[in-house]
Amino acid sequence: MHYISTRHGSQGNPAPLGFEDIMLAGLARDGGLYLPSAWPQFSTAEIAALKGLPYVELAFRIMRPFVGDTFDEATFRRLIGEAYASFETPEVAPLKPLGDSGMHLLELFHGPTLAFKDVALQLLGRMLDHTLTRKSQHATIVGATSGDTGSAAIEAVRDRKTIDIFMLFPRGRVSEVQRRQMTTVAAPNVHNIAVQGTFDDCQDLAKACFNDLAFRDRHALTAVNSINFARVMAQIVYYFWAALKLGAPERPVAFTVPSGNFGNVYAGYAARQMGLPISHFVVGTNSNDILARFFESGVMTTTEVVPTFSPSMDIQISSNFERLLFDLYDRNGVTLADAMTAFRSTGTLKVGANALAGIRQLFDAGRVDEPGTLAAIADCRRRFGETIDPHTAVGYVVAQRHRRDPAVPMVVLATAHPAKFPDAVEKATGERPPLPARLGDLMDRAERVDGLRNDIVALKALIDERRAMAAAPAARSKVRT
Ligand SMILES: *Cc1c(COP(=O)(O)O)cnc(C)c1O
Repeated sequence: MHYISTRHGSQGNPAPLGFEDIMLAGLARDGGLYLPSAWPQFSTAEIAALKGLPYVELAFRIMRPFVGDTFDEATFRRLIGEAYASFETPEVAPLKPLGDSGMHLLELFHGPTLAFKDVALQLLGRMLDHTLTRKSQHATIVGATSGDTGSAAIEAVRDRKTIDIFMLFPRGRVSEVQRRQMTTVAAPNVHNIAVQGTFDDCQDLAKACFNDLAFRDRHALTAVNSINFARVMAQIVYYFWAALKLGAPERPVAFTVPSGNFGNVYAGYAARQMGLPISHFVVGTNSNDILARFFESGVMTTTEVVPTFSPSMDIQISSNFERLLFDLYDRNGVTLADAMTAFRSTGTLKVGANALAGIRQLFDAGRVDEPGTLAAIADCRRRFGETIDPHTAVGYVVAQRHRRDPAVPMVVLATAHPAKFPDAVEKATGERPPLPARLGDLMDRAERVDGLRNDIVALKALIDERRAMAAAPAARSKVRT
């Protein structure tokens, strides 16, 4: 399998890359995002043969075509097995019916940091470490987080000698649980950076590090944000998992995805491209509704980010959306690169009426405001006895708004554990959800974090300095981080 950039051809014609290359690089050198040059195909009979497999084996079968010969089969099975052994249940992603409503919650939050991002990052951390160890190389992860990616990425690579991780988050805009899950990790390879700015500022800073190719090469930068295709790959698995449990391939299934960077729902789109019968997707947004506005109008226009109860979706520029746009631009990397450059400078991108009509057959979208989010948490609890987090609550509302066919099961992706957002849940239900026992002392652990203004020069200097210190271990122990 070969990988290409969404902007391929815009800066010469680089050789096609393999899985190991794109996993280590994260972001393409031309500024685009990697994806396979063609999707692996699963026939109806092949999908039927996957029924009843345990999660780990299903994951192996779905992902094997993507990784090619990067890992031998035994190694790949072992890495997957270890990744999902870190989850609280061997089911990994339990599927719960909501009464007889035809709706189901797919619980993706049973990993170490209580959000769906563990599903991909627990595996990616192990794949990276295995590959770097084999090559005797070191890599530096620079990432931006609106909350959940940061802790999941840190937990996935903590204490690994092959990797240093620098995680940028918007100061004061992540929940206390989210912040503490990052800042209380006492590992020498973990560097938390609180930026004076929004998540989009953090994402821009991270991207700017990658776009400085000399800096990028000097530190062997790698990205574990959802722009890394390996994450999309690992997320494809649970769409198959849920659909198979609900009658696929004989019966179609619909999915609702609370969305921010569009990585999660894009993985569902990929599953559909691979042959899984998905009738349609519902994209849920909070008041930061650039995606909902796009699916309504075909026009993408950025506005200010406003903080909400669902901070992991407080995003205006959904980086993964470029992968869907790539198909809307008939996989023409040159035209897409031009469109993205124009979007960067004007803040607006428009697709044609035909392209819009095409994607609206497959995607519905809707927004839920703050009172609506709280009301949904209370409603789900009252009607079905399930306590959901504010991100899942957004999905719960739009799923009901956009059921197209009552005979088609609707799966709502439950993306975070309610205890990760206790304030919102308490506001909605009057009860504070307790942290699971393994995180019980989180609020008492010491924090380590650096403050930074929204300034790329300062960020690069900090990374240079820390990496130089790591190279001189005697100096490292003296530094307060
Ligand atoms: C990251 C995150 C999202 C958004 O997922 P994307 O892949 O960025 O669309 C939604 N809910 C939770 C809890 C998250 O952590």
